[in-house]
Amino acid sequence: MRPEILFPLFAPATELSGVGPRIGKLLERLAGGGRIVDLLWHLPTGLIDRRHAPPVNAAPEGRIVTLTVRVDAHIPPRNPRLPYKVRCHDDSGFLHLVFFHVKGDYLTKLLPVGEVRVVSGKVEHFRDEAQMTHPDYIVRPEEFATLATIEPVYRLTEGISSKVIGKAVRAAIERAPSLPDWLDAALAARESWSDWRTALRSAHAPAAEPDLAPSTPARRRLAYDELLASQLALALVRAHQRRLPGRRIAAAGDLRRRVLAALPFQLTGAQIAALAEIDGDLASDGRMLRLLQGDVGSGKTVVAFLAMLSAAEIAMQAALMAPTEILARQHYATIAPLAEAAGVPVALLTGRDKGKSRQGVLDRLADGSLKLVVGTHALFQEDVAFDDLALVVIDEQHRFGVHQRLGLAGKGKAVNVLVMTATPIPRTLMLCVYGDMDGSRLTEKPPGRRPIDTRVIPLDRLDEVATAVGRQIDKDARAFWVCPLVEESEVVDLAAASERQAWLAARFGADRVGLVHGRMKAAEKDAAMERFASGDLNVLVATTVIEVGVDVPEATIMVVEHAERFGLAQLHQLRGRIGRGSQPSTCLLLYAAPLGETAKARLTIMRETEDGFRIAEEDLRLRGAGEMLGTRQSGLPEFRLADLTAHADLLQIARDDARLVLDRDPELASPRGKTLRVLLYLFERDAAVRLLRSG
Ligand code: ADP
Ligand code: MG
Repeated sequence: MRPEILFPLFAPATELSGVGPRIGKLLERLAGGGRIVDLLWHLPTGLIDRRHAPPVNAAPEGRIVTLTVRVDAHIPPRNPRLPYKVRCHDDSGFLHLVFFHVKGDYLTKLLPVGEVRVVSGKVEHFRDEAQMTHPDYIVRPEEFATLATIEPVYRLTEGISSKVIGKAVRAAIERAPSLPDWLDAALAARESWSDWRTALRSAHAPAAEPDLAPSTPARRRLAYDELLASQLALALVRAHQRRLPGRRIAAAGDLRRRVLAALPFQLTGAQIAALAEIDGDLASDGRMLRLLQGDVGSGKTVVAFLAMLSAAEIAMQAALMAPTEILARQHYATIAPLAEAAGVPVALLTGRDKGKSRQGVLDRLADGSLKLVVGTHALFQEDVAFDDLALVVIDEQHRFGVHQRLGLAGKGKAVNVLVMTATPIPRTLMLCVYGDMDGSRLTEKPPGRRPIDTRVIPLDRLDEVATAVGRQIDKDARAFWVCPLVEESEVVDLAAASERQAWLAARFGADRVGLVHGRMKAAEKDAAMERFASGDLNVLVATTVIEVGVDVPEATIMVVEHAERFGLAQLHQLRGRIGRGSQPSTCLLLYAAPLGETAKARLTIMRETEDGFRIAEEDLRLRGAGEMLGTRQSGLPEFRLADLTAHADLLQIARDDARLVLDRDPELASPRGKTLRVLLYLFERDAAVRLLRSG
């Protein structure tokens, strides 16, 4: 339960004076929540400096200034659509205050003729006359001191002014209690961090532009709090996971030896190391939750299969789940011959399997006669029952959410989980998303692979490119040709791709150029793919990335049109479709000039490196973590205060801090532990607190 000290923070913002239901709704949209705490997390993005107080005739156009003037005369409009004007002056010149739709008697009270007033707002010049339309402030000179001469500016939504938000935030800060500090004292001292409430106040009260930077002590402290809460929560979940019993899978390795002997290649050092880590997890009593990262073609499937084999060897079951039908089939194709070498049957189960054959697989999974299965989501439908499922391998290719994945293990008792991903995740993000989740990285490519020759070429040389590709095709090369999504409408895109297919067919021969696109039925897609894989087609034009998620080692050319429209990760994935055989490969990235700054940087990186891990880091740098984490649907966390690009160092510290704390005080029962519980509640990690025994 949330500690009482935090109650004021979780009260609705409408409890604040000046915040009615209408403003409350707008604030909710703006701040991502309608509670007082949401306002506190809504940090200013700019500031208004009203200290510039020139004489009227020196007020610069369009800038906010504060002027001291004497009121001369009121000039009501002749017709209500025209503005009401009030003429004022100082020693240097005249100023007209301009008001639309404002009642005269209100203005005569506010601006009595003959008196001096301080007005603040933007000055504009109109026919040599200085004007200020709807000043932000009109006060008596003696009130001037109470005027906030520097105001924070908040991200706005329609119907709400920065002034209103500022007022609400100030009221929210008034409500903020002082909290017992959860920071490690040495860290706080080293970073010159103040206590939470002071940090909050100063983050909302910038005195100059630099105070808005993420590197200010106040903002760093608030970011750290958020990161620490997140790391602590992840660590608690992991600690809990580790305490859960897992099925021990300790096989002697006879089957594996048989398969290794039958393999036409040797495992790479990275594969051997990853397998050893997985074996260690499987042989322990705890439950495995491990991420296996590696580029397409780095040999993840083989590693996963060898782990699955250990389960089969001791009469347990293992399942591999892929995000698409095509990928499931491809994994099955990789695995089936290996399973045969081991003498262990393996089945494929996807949504397309129906009737008798499906029932046959289900029966054998239920009675335990079938130990290994490869499939799609279909594997986890309700009517699928396992006799003794002990290991699940999930090939996520970034399509399954984290939560879904964690919930998935429910099909067996204490199921071990291995997640494979082909999109390398930068270390920073890895930490945020998975915390201390164990990770293995296949950083090394299988031997014999040739580097890919990547070239960046303007689209207006399309003709030359086609000619060059044609020359290779005459030598029976195979090429992917990717046309990206260009328009909003799929129909238009499809037309562009069909047109490209026709154009290429006219050059290379109609029977040599195929097309796959998102609108095709799965069977049609597979058929086209199959023709390409078998060498019947030389060129496969594709509209989307997913469609080329196939393994065709003979393909040596990848042409990407409008490469500037793709993200780095996508380009890397696309390029990963070639360079998988022993023949040299070429990737041609065609771009439409002129290239923007970021697009240029992306293409340069593609030309420079094939290292997926480096590309992922660069991607993070170019896009910023916000965008990479981006959407809620991605299942990745969103931070309100922390900026993973600017605060990457803090993430590391938070990770270590969390780990150290839990090592010493696993139940968060010490004095600092208790304050950390408050921190967890403050960032709404209630679920993590519940994992504590005395939570
Ligand atoms: P991933 O799942 O990472 O995309 P795979 O496991 O499917 O990679 O391997 C891609 C191809 O490389 C497969 O044809 C596989 O047989 C082959 N392969 C895997 N490991 C090695 C290795 N150590 N040496 C040579 N070829 C390998
Ligand atoms: Mg694979």
